[in-house]
Amino acid sequence: MIGSVTVKRFSQILLGAVGGIFVLSFHQVQVAVSFPIVELKTENQVVATEINSSEDLIEEPALPPLGKPDPFLPQKPFPPPSLKKPEKPYYSLVPERYKGKTIYQVSPRNQEKVIALTFDDGPWLETLKVLAVLRQFDIKATFFILGRNLILYPEIIQQVVQGGHAVGNHTWTHPYGKMEPRKAKSEIENTSAKLQLMTGVKTRLFRPPGGILDNGTAEYARSKNYAIIMWSIDTKDYQQPSAEVLANRVLTQASPGDIVLMHDGGGNRFQTIEALKIIIPELQKRGYRFVTVPELLALSE
Ligand SMILES: [Zn+2]
Repeated sequence: MIGSVTVKRFSQILLGAVGGIFVLSFHQVQVAVSFPIVELKTENQVVATEINSSEDLIEEPALPPLGKPDPFLPQKPFPPPSLKKPEKPYYSLVPERYKGKTIYQVSPRNQEKVIALTFDDGPWLETLKVLAVLRQFDIKATFFILGRNLILYPEIIQQVVQGGHAVGNHTWTHPYGKMEPRKAKSEIENTSAKLQLMTGVKTRLFRPPGGILDNGTAEYARSKNYAIIMWSIDTKDYQQPSAEVLANRVLTQASPGDIVLMHDGGGNRFQTIEALKIIIPELQKRGYRFVTVPELLALSE
């Protein structure tokens, strides 16, 4: 057992080191990504201008100290990887009226049957399986990511962004306890800055770990005009019940404007992935359309 633990730890360090090199290369090269304001042609007629605003224009991201040195900080520079510009970077921004607000669900205009699937705690190896299912049904979702996992899985966050999904901030280390404003700032700003440096995506979506709204993170995020995205349907998939139980939790509660909480990171997500294969086609049969959180907000009354 000791042998396997050591090998696993070693591979994690190796992966981390590679991830760290990846990021530093961006720091040094300072890749500039422009955000064109273009019409967003989707079937649901959400326009980019509704989500974009002047303060969302990309600028040099802030990187406050994390408290401890980044354990994966590389020792020497490395050639930058090829970065494909995200097609729809504004997918992770929010309409003006929702900035600084806490949202559990919305009332869609005309009671349109729209619903948003959200996945927390990635990027993670299981994220790839979630992406495959979403691709199979040709739907978009929203991923609330951890900064520390961005470093571990730089290729996976690229796939999330290239897949046209929205990305939100879920802090760097997933803290639960009450913290100093400086620590909250560090948790949030570092995560958003790394995401932006690695993918070009600037996000204004925030989900507090554990849904805790009073430990300092949500307060800081609100002050920076993030929309605090909670949920109206909790699948409790972290308890790893069967796929059928998970699917039923969604199917018995689903109504227009719901935000569904699931997890792609943090463990084995086999049941979650199997549940998706039940939930998506069944809700589509009932006439639902799956949208990202920014789209859901833009479609609300
Ligand atoms: Zn979480």
